Amino acid sequence: MGNIRKSAFGYSTKCNIRCEHCVAAGETPQTGTMNLIQAKSIIHEMVQANVKGVSFTAGEPLIFLSEIIELIKICCENNIYTRVVTNGFWAKTCDMSDLVILQLKDAGLSQLRISFSKWHQKHISRKNILNASNSCKKHGINYFISFVTDFSKEDEEYEDFLRKNNLKFFPEPVIFSGRAEGFRRHELYTDYQANCCFMNPYISPELDMYACCDAGIHFTNTNFFHLGNLKNNTIDELFLKSETNSLYNHIRNMGITAIASFAGFKSREIIKYRKCELCKLLFDSPETLKFLGKVSNTRLNEWYR
Ligand code: SF4
Ligand code: SF4
Repeated sequence: MGNIRKSAFGYSTKCNIRCEHCVAAGETPQTGTMNLIQAKSIIHEMVQANVKGVSFTAGEPLIFLSEIIELIKICCENNIYTRVVTNGFWAKTCDMSDLVILQLKDAGLSQLRISFSKWHQKHISRKNILNASNSCKKHGINYFISFVTDFSKEDEEYEDFLRKNNLKFFPEPVIFSGRAEGFRRHELYTDYQANCCFMNPYISPELDMYACCDAGIHFTNTNFFHLGNLKNNTIDELFLKSETNSLYNHIRNMGITAIASFAGFKSREIIKYRKCELCKLLFDSPETLKFLGKVSNTRLNEWYR
């Protein structure tokens, strides 16, 4: 699975709601949108570069339903697995929801990922989440709910709602980046886990490609995950860059935790950080990055069990 090429596709960073925790946007949201012709040509280039999965994400992709449908069709014709990440705003009633799901199904969508959290649900009724999930079940579209949580007591009620309604959901830890950067952290002790990241690349509406689609786009001190811009490079070149960078490969294979330990972080400190925060401490610090870059093919290579 590790070497299959997949990418998050940011057709637009526009969203119809404004969640307080949004990792895709800072305080002043960017609202760039790709040109459809350009987006189609990127998908065709992805086919040539042997990309096997595309996740339509960024802002709310289904604001651009007809455009996304065209892009899904091209993917489907070329055997690319497709996922749309949505907040479900379009599923106000069962009929409205069925209408959208049937169009996505006809286009060949592989999977719908529906976002749900105390932050999303300040703007979108829970009923929408239920309607969207039920339409997927009814029309045979694979779906799951991404339950974004900070693991607080308050979130239990949201989890109960999903359970009570027999919905397929997976908890996703909120990422303390983007608008959630300033959130108060609850103390969290976890196992001393490896924190390996597969790192799906992300293409922004401005055609910048990043090696990581999550908090990594906000590492603005070092731009560590920025691979280049599609105006100057081919997708194949940028994928290759991501696949051959030794530090990225250490993140994939060794994991953030062991890299932090190598860099001198105490283990009792490491277990207090979420992985993206630890990643930021390591790779968005020009000094630490310089050090790690210097030893990534020598001493860091020896740091495997
Ligand atoms: S988290 Fe998703 S739904 Fe909420 S503002 Fe960000 S892009 Fe929009
Ligand atoms: S830990 Fe680093 S590579 Fe992994 S998702 Fe977070 S920012 Fe990206």
